[in-house]
Amino acid sequence: MRVLVLSDIHSNLEALEACLAAAPACDLMANLGDLVGYGACPNEVIERVRALGGVFVRGNHDRAATGQIDISDFNPMARFAALWTRQQLTPENLEWLKTLPQGPVRRPEVPAAQFVHGSPIDEDDYIVNWSDAMPPLITAAASLTFFGHTHHQGGFFDRTQTAETFQPTYKTTEWTDRCEWRLRKNQHYLINPGSVGQPRDGDWRAGFAVFDDEPYAVTFYRVPYNLQRAQERILAAQLPERLSARLALGR
Ligand code: ZN
Repeated sequence: MRVLVLSDIHSNLEALEACLAAAPACDLMANLGDLVGYGACPNEVIERVRALGGVFVRGNHDRAATGQIDISDFNPMARFAALWTRQQLTPENLEWLKTLPQGPVRRPEVPAAQFVHGSPIDEDDYIVNWSDAMPPLITAAASLTFFGHTHHQGGFFDRTQTAETFQPTYKTTEWTDRCEWRLRKNQHYLINPGSVGQPRDGDWRAGFAVFDDEPYAVTFYRVPYNLQRAQERILAAQLPERLSARLALGR
């Protein structure tokens, strides 16, 4: 059983296509939310992932674009992008986006896993460091929690009294790279596949992960994509210039 785990695509079609092209054949796709927001291709991204199917969890930017949350506490750039996205979405895509479920989402094909956007405790929580990771690790209803929201690739696992972190390391900064993390069956993990469309860990390449139950492991990926085209689309759409510039920095 192999699961392709994507998160935080943020309307970046070029990054999504690069991930789908680089991923091995999988039995199930799981999307951890924030399909839209920031990037210039909300409809194209929704139509692509909808056609592929699988598990979906709603993200805060999905709820912002559909008017399901108050965006007055979003920063001005995020608010502008959310309102722009709302105007762009076709009625059908807007309605579909509204139907995305709140995590945790479980699937019988992968009984060891649950899928969330921010945290299993609160969908809007950010799990950035081990002290954030401890409460959801201790209370997790599944061995493996796949989460997104922070746009930081990597993971946490429980040890007595503390949580350990796992950070993938790569050989290059420009090409497709993989990093395997072997897991233990008697341990709890929080695993972030990274952001497809707007990485914020200093690596501009699109991030995703593949979970395999035999051998029991997660493989993290970073793949180059047509950055220039994604940037040009953002500028052509008259979205904030900073949304284009940050893609090159992975920030
Ligand atoms: Zn996000």
